[in-house]
Amino acid sequence: MLMENMTWVEVKEAAERGLPVVLAVGSTEQHGPHLPLATDCLLPVGIAMEAARRFPLVVAPPVRFGVKSRPLSGGGESFPGTLSISAATLTVTVTDVLCALARSGFRNLCVYNWHYENAGHLWEACDIAMSRGAQARILLVENPMPEFTKEQLDELFPQGFPGWDVEHASIMETSLMYALHPELVRRDRIVDDQAQRHPTWDVVPAPPEFIPASGVLWRPSQATPELGRKFLTAVSDRLVQALTTEFGAPSQEADISGSSKAANP
Ligand SMILES: [Zn+2]
Repeated sequence: MLMENMTWVEVKEAAERGLPVVLAVGSTEQHGPHLPLATDCLLPVGIAMEAARRFPLVVAPPVRFGVKSRPLSGGGESFPGTLSISAATLTVTVTDVLCALARSGFRNLCVYNWHYENAGHLWEACDIAMSRGAQARILLVENPMPEFTKEQLDELFPQGFPGWDVEHASIMETSLMYALHPELVRRDRIVDDQAQRHPTWDVVPAPPEFIPASGVLWRPSQATPELGRKFLTAVSDRLVQALTTEFGAPSQEADISGSSKAANP
């Protein structure tokens, strides 16, 4: 159910069936020497497709540009290939896409964020879309990770959980890429790295010791396909849980008669 491969007729039918639509919001950002720039889009789209096996839904074309990469969570803006937009541009873009999805007939929209730095700007986009009169409800998943128990974290990170902020191009993202797009992982280029200094505050402009030379913020050498499948199950389960909780159990026969609009070619 990738919307970009659907026709307008199929989109109209999906909306009339009451299917929710998931809008992944990612980035085009360096992910070390071993993962592609599109990692923050490939992962949430792949997870939404996995969720679609259990909860019928449509996956909208992802928002491929995210707000500026920050050195302590994404390596920063100095890496070739990192293409970022301002928070204001992201807010306007996501607002416009949400309004267009509602105009297409979708009543249940889910904004699914994967780029750490986007979080905090997406609520406003949802709020503005609603104040513009979008005929929809919006589920906002800013942080895609479930609340893992200590036992689960011990299983997923046997050598210690470093915190999600440094999980950039590291164990979780590399494992998920093994599970979803193994052909895109440059296994011979994997390096472990970290910032020389990682305080709990930020400094602008960033001191050089905040920026690891490779762009990797932790230990991708610990990533495995098996961990990738565990992460994929956990994050897609969590997406299904959020969709089910807010939009109700999926129904193939969902009827939203009277609320869909005819589209014109
Ligand atoms: Zn990433």
